[in-house]
Amino acid sequence: MSIAERLHAVQARIRSAETAYGRPAGSVRLLAVSKTHPAAALREAHAAGQCAFGENYLQEALDKQAELAGLPLEWHFIGPIQSNKTRRIAEGFAWVHSVERLKIAERLSAQRPAELPPLAVCIEVNVSGEASKSGVGPAELPALAHAVAALPRLQLRGLMSVPAPASDFAAQRRPHAQLRALFEALNADGFALDTLSMGMSDDLEAAVAEGSTLLRIGTAIFGPRH
Ligand SMILES: *Cc1c(COP(=O)(O)O)cnc(C)c1O
Repeated sequence: MSIAERLHAVQARIRSAETAYGRPAGSVRLLAVSKTHPAAALREAHAAGQCAFGENYLQEALDKQAELAGLPLEWHFIGPIQSNKTRRIAEGFAWVHSVERLKIAERLSAQRPAELPPLAVCIEVNVSGEASKSGVGPAELPALAHAVAALPRLQLRGLMSVPAPASDFAAQRRPHAQLRALFEALNADGFALDTLSMGMSDDLEAAVAEGSTLLRIGTAIFGPRH
């Protein structure tokens, strides 16, 4: 299958999940996760209608941005962030999904160029049973959310998570339900978050069922990573 065919198949999965779980049509955004894939693959996805791309590794992302400079793409940084990378992330991306420490958030805010709109950010949460060690624990989340929301050049949009892979549907839903509960608790506490960044190639239906507003999909669009 071509990238365009895979992309259309993913869009069809999203539309049928929206219908199946009572979500308004078009309420779930698709972020194409393009790490390890060449600029030509992103160009193909863009030609098939995809505008938002997620990258995990800064240098790789900057190389692709340079190659694709003529296209109106929206870039999201979704990987771990080292302090010495914050300036180029603040300068080159519209969104960051992987904020997990206040120090990093402060640097992103301070380094966001004045001529750009505030950087949209999600806080990455480590809900129980996750494969990776990244993300703030649920107990630390409210304090971090208040501190991030107070930073002038960031706009706190929501929460992100990368749950451990699970094969059955109920097990896939559980961590997404936990992230959604944390999201709703923050909004009940006065936040106006609008983004639940959860769901990947293998669990997108479970994520839509639990309220995802933004799916991060790599393999199902671009094929396996080598
Ligand atoms: C690689 C990656 C994805 C995409 O995963 P697929 O299973 O290939 O869809 C999503 N989110 C993050 C944070 C990633 O690193």
